[in-house]
Formats: sequence, C-alpha cells, structure tokens
Amino acid sequence: MKLKDKVCIVTGAASGIGNAIAHKYAAEGGKVAIADIKMEAAQAAADGIAARFGTEAMAVAMDVTSEEQVNAGVQSVVDAWGTVDVLVSNAGIQIVNPIEDFAFADWKKMLAIHLDGAFLTSKAVIPHMYAQGSGSIIFMGSVHSKEASKLKSAYVTAKHGLLGLNRVIAKEAGPRGVRTNVICPGFVRTPLVDKQIPEQSRELGIPEEEVIAKVMLGQTVDAEFTTVEDIAEVALFFAAFQTNALTGQSLVASHGWFME
Ligand code: NAD
Repeated sequence: MKLKDKVCIVTGAASGIGNAIAHKYAAEGGKVAIADIKMEAAQAAADGIAARFGTEAMAVAMDVTSEEQVNAGVQSVVDAWGTVDVLVSNAGIQIVNPIEDFAFADWKKMLAIHLDGAFLTSKAVIPHMYAQGSGSIIFMGSVHSKEASKLKSAYVTAKHGLLGLNRVIAKEAGPRGVRTNVICPGFVRTPLVDKQIPEQSRELGIPEEEVIAKVMLGQTVDAEFTTVEDIAEVALFFAAFQTNALTGQSLVASHGWFME
C-alpha cells in the first residue's frame, strides 16, 4: 500500500475526478477527507469509501473560496487524524462565454474557486506539513494550463496561474520536505464536461456531437476521453513519490491532445 495511514485531503471530491482520487488513495491505505461545498454528496462519498475499503474517511464542509471555511475544515482533519500528508486542490467549475459577454462576476468567481482555492488550501496545510518535514500538494490544472480554447478566458487564465503558484511553493517548501505538482488532464467525462457540451454547441453554433468529436477530442490521437481513473493514477504517483526530484513539475494526461 503506497499511502498507508497517510492523511489526504481532496477538495471537490464529492464528484468526478476528485472522487476517483479519493477512492484510489483509500485503496492504497490513505485516510481520506472529502472536502466539498456539497456536504450531502461528500458524506455519501466518505461513507461509501469507508465501507468499501475499511479505511477512515470523513466529509468536510468547505467552500474553497472562504478562508474561514478552509481553515476550519483543515483544522477538523488535523483534530481527527493529527496532521495532513497530502492535499489535492481539485475543486473547480467551468463557465464558458465569449469574452465580450463574460460577466465580471463570473470571471471573479472562476478565479476565486480555482486560484484562491489553491492558495487558501495550500496555506492552511503547509504549517502541518512543515511541522513533520514532509507533504505533497497537488493542483488540478488542465491542458488549459498550457493551451487556450475559445470561450474559456477565465478558466484558461486560472489554470495557467496554477503553474506559477506550484513553482513558487516548490521553491519555498522544497527545503522543508514539501513537494508540489500540477496534473493537467484533457477532457474527462464528468458533470463539469457534460454541462459544457450543450453550452458550447449553442455558443459555437455546431451540433453537440461535433463539440465532442472536434472541440473536445479532435486533437487526441485516438478520439478517446481521458478517464477519472487515469487521473487518479497520476495523483497517486505524485502523492507517493519519495523524493523532491519531480517537485514543481506538471504532467499532461490527454490522449495526445497536447504534447510537450
Ligand atoms: P465535477 O463537477 O465532477 O466536480 C467538481 C467538484 O467540485 C464538485 O463536487 C463540486 O461540488 C466541487 N466544488 C465546486 N465549487 C466548489 C467550492 N467553491 N468549494 C468546494 N468544492 C467545490 O468536475 P471535475 O470534472 O471532476 O473537475 C475537477 C477538477 O478537474 C476541476 O478543477 C476541473 O477544472 C479539473 N479538470 C477537469 C477536466 C474535465 O474534463 N472534467 C479537465 C481538466 C481539468
């Protein structure tokens, strides 16, 4: 077991990619905190994980844009399990619109969830990681951390920003044993993506099948979606990595959509 008794907080783990990561970490022996704004779904996920893997799991009510809720949520995990070993800052949403129609309030909301969320959760866990001289912080980036698409001004900006925050924390925290990485998935079929298919179809004036075939999968090598399991494997790899050799790095998992 690669994460035996490690305390792992995964934000946005009531659904989609975060949920798969929480399952993978629990399967590897981790104690998993499901931190999400949707408390009922988070509790159901935690109960399901505890029953399936016989490991400890807890739900934590957390809006990642609220400093108060982030600090209280992290503290509740530390009170229960003593420390934090792994943070996956994964909570996210998508809002698509051409820039001239992009509401300023939506722009601010996007930057708050993706960037404030990463900053606040990192800031809250780092003192506990420093105290024990080890830890792993993983940000959920995107191919959109490195590539642009129409209609996604706020998302692309926020996801690019995570690369910078990751590199700064890698430099500050590396000497104290704390590693940081960014995972950059291509399109993964989750509620976040299902919601944008009709929205992009409307905005771009093309059928939904074309949004999937051309916009989402057109540049992959095999017209396949990346899966939540693919991303959970990468999240395990970074969380369990033993040295600082990979700190500050990002990894794209996108069926060849974006290569570097
Ligand atoms: P999802 O909608 O299935 O899950 C997102 C979760 O985040 C939900 O449980 C939601 O309740 C939670 N959340 C939203 N706002 C929150 C907040 N303010 N505080 C706490 N929790 C909040 O989406 P997903 O596809 O699993 O996305 C997870 C992450 O992966 C996001 O950061 C997303 O940008 C990123 N990502 C997704 C894809 C994809 O194709 N699905 C691709 C690249 C990156």
